[in-house]
Amino acid sequence: MSDTSRYDLLLKGGHTICAKNGIDGRMDVAIHKGKIAALETDIDPSLAEKTVDVTGLYVTPGLIDIHVHVYHTREPEGLSVMADSHSFRSGVTTFVDTGTAGARHFLHFKRTVIDLAKTRIFAFVNIVDQGMIGDFEQDPANFDPELCAGTVLAYPDICVGVKTAHYWARQPFDDIHTPWAAVDKGVEASKLCGKPLMVDFWPRPERTYPELILEKMQPGDIHTHVFAQQFPIVDEAGKPNDFLFKARERGVIFDLGHGAGSFWFRNAVPAMQNGFSPDSISTDLHIRNVHGVVVDMLTTMNKILNIGMPLAEVIYRSTLTPAQEIGHPELGHLSVGAEADVAVLRMQTGEFGFVDCGKAKIQGDRKLECAMTLRAGEIVYDPDGMSVPLWQDAPPAYWTLPF
Ligand SMILES: [Zn+2]
Repeated sequence: MSDTSRYDLLLKGGHTICAKNGIDGRMDVAIHKGKIAALETDIDPSLAEKTVDVTGLYVTPGLIDIHVHVYHTREPEGLSVMADSHSFRSGVTTFVDTGTAGARHFLHFKRTVIDLAKTRIFAFVNIVDQGMIGDFEQDPANFDPELCAGTVLAYPDICVGVKTAHYWARQPFDDIHTPWAAVDKGVEASKLCGKPLMVDFWPRPERTYPELILEKMQPGDIHTHVFAQQFPIVDEAGKPNDFLFKARERGVIFDLGHGAGSFWFRNAVPAMQNGFSPDSISTDLHIRNVHGVVVDMLTTMNKILNIGMPLAEVIYRSTLTPAQEIGHPELGHLSVGAEADVAVLRMQTGEFGFVDCGKAKIQGDRKLECAMTLRAGEIVYDPDGMSVPLWQDAPPAYWTLPF
């Protein structure tokens, strides 16, 4: 790099969207030493070592997906995907693993996945000490609030809260007599560590959804899978039920958490068209939905976009709100000084289908694709070669063999 350059990289000519800075329009973004160095309408390219022309593209904060499963080294079996294989190609720079690991495997998860990944990975720790694995999740004897909270507090830079999930009425365990055990223990752990609880839930007559969100969950807790089929989101006329707004008033957060079975247009479309949208958009990415019906973060965002949420709000709910929900306000925006996690997105127009978990679809006319991703200022995804020269213009030895 030349000594006179003020910036390492300049993204020039793009339409920048950054809710925190109130930006939704033409704005250049300059990056230096891994941080956002300037955010101005017209930055001189001579100040930058490298300039990438992003005219016609959207420049947004790196996307933050707060519901994924990326503990791919888990034995004996797992449903996790490898984080770096699925993040940057969809504009995602931060993943939050939601309870794949419990306290007993957390150090292994950290050493074999989190510490090695280029993607920033945070985690909710499962209230089940063995994590997300088979029948362990059904036995309340495995729910250990002190161990869970202790783990969260032991890794404050990684752990963002507690997760509870998959607590069914299944013999031989007697959870039918303790229907709230998983939620109650999760709340207890959450209070002990002072971080939010993320809840995956299946209502039954002895444990209803209004009870969960109006009585059990605490302000700042996150209900994921909000548009799953099992929740009474809308009434017969398609109007969102009042208890949703009451829960939101008391601080309960609603997250999309698409998953293999938890996103249904029959809930999402009428709810959103009648004033109830998710606070954050997330995928619940794992090996059983990565090739359909979830695919990736942008595919999930495209569904919400084509239901009718404005683009700037889709970006907001995939960057700034998830960052706030997990207690990381330093992320999710392009403020000067922030780590330069950036997504460059291309809007395609045409005729597109988007599929839900019931294998039904909506037709849409807009589709975001990832054109480039930056993680801490480094270009980590550039499939069209926007940042490199034409081969005729490249220096003679333009690639050096690593041996
Ligand atoms: Zn999940």
